[in-house]
Amino acid sequence: MSSKDWIEKDYYAVLGVEKSASSDEIKKLYRKLARESHPDHNPGDPKAEERFKAVSEAYAVLGEEKKRREYDEMRSLFGSGAFRRNARTGGQPGGMPFDVSDLFGGAAGGTGTRFGGGGFTDLFSSIFSGGGAGPARARGPARGRDVEAEVALDFEDAVRGVTLPLTLRAPGICDTCHGNGAKPGTQPVACPVCQGAGVTTRNQGSFSFSEPCRNCQGVGTIVEEKCPECHGTGGVTKTRTLNVRFPAGVADGQRIRLAGRGEPGERGGPAGDLFVHVKVRPDELFGRSGDDLTLTVPITFAEAVLGTDLRVPTLDGTVTLRVPAGTPSGRVLRARGKGVVRKDGRAGDLLVTLDVVVPAKVSDEARAALEAFAEQTPPAAREHLDARVRRFS
Ligand SMILES: [Zn+2]
Ligand SMILES: [Zn+2]
Repeated sequence: MSSKDWIEKDYYAVLGVEKSASSDEIKKLYRKLARESHPDHNPGDPKAEERFKAVSEAYAVLGEEKKRREYDEMRSLFGSGAFRRNARTGGQPGGMPFDVSDLFGGAAGGTGTRFGGGGFTDLFSSIFSGGGAGPARARGPARGRDVEAEVALDFEDAVRGVTLPLTLRAPGICDTCHGNGAKPGTQPVACPVCQGAGVTTRNQGSFSFSEPCRNCQGVGTIVEEKCPECHGTGGVTKTRTLNVRFPAGVADGQRIRLAGRGEPGERGGPAGDLFVHVKVRPDELFGRSGDDLTLTVPITFAEAVLGTDLRVPTLDGTVTLRVPAGTPSGRVLRARGKGVVRKDGRAGDLLVTLDVVVPAKVSDEARAALEAFAEQTPPAAREHLDARVRRFS
């Protein structure tokens, strides 16, 4: 069964059911029709045999949920859709070459993969995006495509802002042939099969079916002598470098839009945008929390108890922070204005988390001093826990 059968044959009419019929209705009608037309019941009747075959073929598609969906989708696209309208208006599908047999391959093979996602419809919308009227060269301006790129920034560059050259590789129009794919000095000629229409039409009874011309892949022209630069495709991969300014305080995961720096437009259309996805490499010392920088500073138990002055690094210098006597572990000290400085002059803070460290080993003298200290220290406030512990003892 070819995919063209799918376009041309109305399996619903063969079974005499509505397009909205349930699978049960379809099954019932199929059984009835198959019984009636079965060759065993109609010996020597070629019409019945033909009918039996047609009914079986229809049921093979409509009786299977997945195939039925593909069939519906295909017919809605081709039956009322773009191809026919295009052919009538004499329009030419846009310049994107594609292989029709390839397009149909999925359906004919019954795998249905091409119809599963958005690919099929997308392909068509892009092929016919130029509209039905007029040949390709008369089509209006088209906006260039958006381009996505990813850049990894050093932590400090992201905090301070930086300008970096960004090299982009993107498909572009071949300069040698200006995109028509023909060797310089030659011109593409109208396709002899479709006379430049890009579509071919076949009549089948009272219906006419149009499909993209196989000879020119729907372009309407063919190239006799190929451009040596692009080998007839009209496109080349172009490399361009632009300087991208990353503002101070740009964050990991942020996306920067550079209007008009995407792919150039066609026929005078505006260029697309460039979207740069920012990755920020972690710093050895500092972390980020919005516009605040974070830093963890280990202190001794004695420093926490007695208090001390701490000199800690900032991104561009140092700052001295007062640790008051009796500071608990985990306390966060704030150095105002030592965080990320924004363009408007506002700045985040440096948040310093104090981490009281416990030595794994102490000297004999330290141990003795600690034991003396312990004797002078009231026990930790654990009464609220002790009450619960007693329940289980
Ligand atoms: Zn070329
Ligand atoms: Zn053609």
